[in-house]
Amino acid sequence: MTEQTNTSNPNAKTPSPALLQDSFGRHVTYLRVSVTDRCDFRCTYCMSEQMKFLPKKDVLSFEELASIVDVFVKRGVTKLRLTGGEPLVRKDITKLIDKFSGHLKTKSLKELTLTTNGSQLSKYASHLVDAGMERINVSLDTLDAEKFHKITRRGNLETVLNGIEAAKNAGLRIKINMVAMNGFNDQEIVPMVRWAHGQGYDLTLIEEMPLGEIANDRTQSFLALRDVRDNLAQQFSLEKIGLSTGGPARYVRVKETGGRIGFITPMSHNFCESCNRVRLTCTGKLYLCLGKEDCIDLRDPLREGGEAGLNAALDEAMRIKPKGHDFDQKRMTPAVGRHMSVTGG
Ligand code: SAM
Ligand code: SF4
Repeated sequence: MTEQTNTSNPNAKTPSPALLQDSFGRHVTYLRVSVTDRCDFRCTYCMSEQMKFLPKKDVLSFEELASIVDVFVKRGVTKLRLTGGEPLVRKDITKLIDKFSGHLKTKSLKELTLTTNGSQLSKYASHLVDAGMERINVSLDTLDAEKFHKITRRGNLETVLNGIEAAKNAGLRIKINMVAMNGFNDQEIVPMVRWAHGQGYDLTLIEEMPLGEIANDRTQSFLALRDVRDNLAQQFSLEKIGLSTGGPARYVRVKETGGRIGFITPMSHNFCESCNRVRLTCTGKLYLCLGKEDCIDLRDPLREGGEAGLNAALDEAMRIKPKGHDFDQKRMTPAVGRHMSVTGG
């Protein structure tokens, strides 16, 4: 492992571990942690109805997850997102959030955030604010209660809307994540823009990715966001803005509403050249690309080698991080076997 001088104290004897940089020169500064692969919903594009979850005995403890995150932070990760499955259904999740938020207090982390389906937000919103979160992503694919129940297979729209409202009232900035699906919510994108912006929320549209086996045929539901954007441009004046939130979305501002729309286009536009992130599962696997199987185990290195073991594993991870995914919208059969709920988004 290469070492760099400790810049905070030039006389210090102990060198800091090297920042995370992959073999293509990209710096990894963003870690997504899937704290559980379990979920109270079964969104049809994300999971199968009879989803098999990871064995509970393999799930890392909060102490183990925190030890791994400590090492990432020491090596230059400044943004941490909790995801899942549904992160807020993991038992005692506030204890883990509090552990992570220690890095905000020391200013080692610039941002701690969360992606959630919103079902538990009424319960946890104020705790998230107390822990230092400033903004969160909430997934919402439709504002029609019946369709919401259908796509989530068990969710209740009112509960989620109340959760989003509670988050807003607690002071969180909100970005709505909407997976755009042909024949399901393609006609709801304009109303969703108006609703989200009317509430003061950003909206991010996401292309469906072929991750894991599901019941539906993804070739039927796939909707290319370049077409959606063309349609939106007929209804609104879209102004390109250079905003970057450290993730893969490209943003425009809607002149009429003043709000922002983000486009996440893994299928129709490859943004891998600017990839700055890796994904940790709740069992300690580090996935290096959402659309590839390349991963490295961190659980055994942690248990057997502690911090030194983890540092060596992270060096190897940087060596093997792939250049990019090769999703192809004409081939919507699973690019990888694991579902999105294993690595989160
Ligand atoms: N349960 C939380 C939620 O739904 O926000 C966090 C995990 S979920 C896997 C993260 C995001 O991935 C959600 O916005 C969801 O809509 C999106 N997602 C799930 N499966 C997807 C797929 N196959 N293609 C694109 N996005 C997907
Ligand atoms: Fe659960 Fe989120 Fe997947 Fe829906 S998208 S099933 S809420 S993990």
